[in-house]
Amino acid sequence: MSLRRPINLRNTLAFRLTLWYAGVFTLSSCIAFLLFYTLITSFMRERTDQELLVQVNRFSTLLAAEGIEAVKSAAVIDATAAGVKKVFFRLLSLRGQVFSSSNMSYWQDILINEKAIKEVLRSGGPVFQTISVRDRNDEVRVLYAFLSPTILLQVGQAMESYSRFLDAFKGIFIATMAFLIALSAVIGWFMARQAVSGVEAVTRTAQKISGGTLEERVPVKAREDEIDQLATTFNQMLDRIQTLLTEIKEMSDNIAHDLRSPITRIRGIAEVTLTTGRSLPEYEAMAASTIEECDRLLDMINTMLIISKTEAGVDHLVREEIDLGGLAREACELFEPAAEDKGIAVSCDVPDRSYLTGDTRMIQRMLSNLVDNAIKYTPPGGSVNVTLGESDGEVVISVKDTGIGISPNDLPRIFERFYRCDQSRSQGGIGLGLSLARAIARAHGGDIKVTSTLNEGSMFVVTLPKMKI
Ligand code: ADP
Repeated sequence: MSLRRPINLRNTLAFRLTLWYAGVFTLSSCIAFLLFYTLITSFMRERTDQELLVQVNRFSTLLAAEGIEAVKSAAVIDATAAGVKKVFFRLLSLRGQVFSSSNMSYWQDILINEKAIKEVLRSGGPVFQTISVRDRNDEVRVLYAFLSPTILLQVGQAMESYSRFLDAFKGIFIATMAFLIALSAVIGWFMARQAVSGVEAVTRTAQKISGGTLEERVPVKAREDEIDQLATTFNQMLDRIQTLLTEIKEMSDNIAHDLRSPITRIRGIAEVTLTTGRSLPEYEAMAASTIEECDRLLDMINTMLIISKTEAGVDHLVREEIDLGGLAREACELFEPAAEDKGIAVSCDVPDRSYLTGDTRMIQRMLSNLVDNAIKYTPPGGSVNVTLGESDGEVVISVKDTGIGISPNDLPRIFERFYRCDQSRSQGGIGLGLSLARAIARAHGGDIKVTSTLNEGSMFVVTLPKMKI
C-alpha cells in the first residue's frame, strides 16, 4: 500500500509558516506605520502651533509699540500675503465680540468658540482647537490668545499642506506595504520550503523503505542543523533496524539448520531400522537414539525459551541469597572428571563465601556454560582457572583458559544466538551457551566481557552487583 497521499496545500507546514511569516510582517509594519503616522501628525501640529504663537507674539509686540490700528492693518496684509484661504485673523473683545478681522469670506463657517474664550480668560494662556470645515478635506488649526489685557486674537491656519503630505504618505505606505507583503510571502514560502525540504527527504526515505528498500538512507547535508540531526538519528535507527533484521534472519537460518540436522538423523535411524532391522534389540536401539536426539532438540528449544525469558527482565528470576563461591566450586567439581579425561588441569581460587542476591539455578547455568566451554575449547595439556573477587559492591568471576582462543573477527559475535567460530565446529555445541550466560548476567544487573588471543587462550569475566535485584 502506498503512503503517498495528495496533500492539500493549505494543510502543509510550508503554507502555514508562510502565512505566519507574512501575517507577523504585516502586523509589525502596520504598528510601525501607526507609530510613525502619530509622530508625524503631532510633530506637524506642534509646528503649526509654534507658527500661530509666533504670530500672536508679533501682533502683541506691534500693539504695544504702534497701537491697535497697526495691528489691524498688519492682520489684513499678513492674511492677504499668506493667501486668504490659508490664514485668517480676528481681533476680539474680552466678551468675544469681533471688532476687526482679515478677509473672512472663505471662513464664514468658523465661529467664535465661547468655551475657548472662557478658557483663555480663566487660564490666561493660549487655547488651541482643530476644526474640520465643511467642503474642505483638510483641517484648520485655531488659536485664541491675549494680545493685551483687553484684546483677544483668534488666528486660524489651514493645515492643507500637511494633509496633502499625510495623504501622500498614506498612499506611498499602502503601495509599499502591498509590495512588501507580496515579497514577504514569496520569501516566507521560499524559506519555509527550504526548512521543510529536509523533513520531506526523511518522509521520502520512509516511503521508499515502507516499499521494501531498507538500504535507503536520508542524505545528510553537513549543516549540523535540526534537520541534519533528524536525518542522522533516522539513519541510525535504520542502521539498527537493518542490523536487527539481519540478526533475526541469521538466527532463523541457524534455527532451521540446527533443527534440520537432528530431525534428519532421527529420520535416518528410523528408515535404516525399518528397512534393515528385524530384531527387538535393533528396534530398542532405534527408540533410544530417537529419544536422545529428541532430548537434544528439546534442550535447544528450552534454552532458546530461557534466553528469551531472561532477556525479558528480572521478573522471571527467583530472588534468593546465594553463595557464589560455593556455586563456582560446584561448577569446577562438576566438570573435573571431563577435564581429567582430557588431561586439563582445573584450578578454582574462590573465597569460602561470597554472597549476593540472585537466581541460583540461573547463576549455576551461567557458570557451568563458561567452565564447560573453557574445558571444551582447550586442547589436552592446557589449564582452566576460575577466580572470584569482590570490589566496589561487585563480585567479579573470571574463567580463564589456555585454549584455542577466539579470532578478533569472531570476538564481537560470540554472544549472538547460534554463533559458532569456525575453529570450534569440531566440538559439539549449538551456539546458545554464551547467549544464555550473557542474558543471565544482564538480568542480574551485571555483564560478561571477554578477552582472547587466538591459539593462546581466552578469559571470560562476569561482573555481578551485590545489591538486591
Ligand atoms: P557452543 O555450544 O558452540 O559452545 P557457546 O554460545 O557457548 O556455544 O559459544 C559460542 C562460540 O564461542 C563457540 O562455538 C566457540 O566458537 C566460542 N567460544 C566460547 N567459549 C570459548 C572458549 N573458552 N575458547 C574459545 N572459543 C570459545
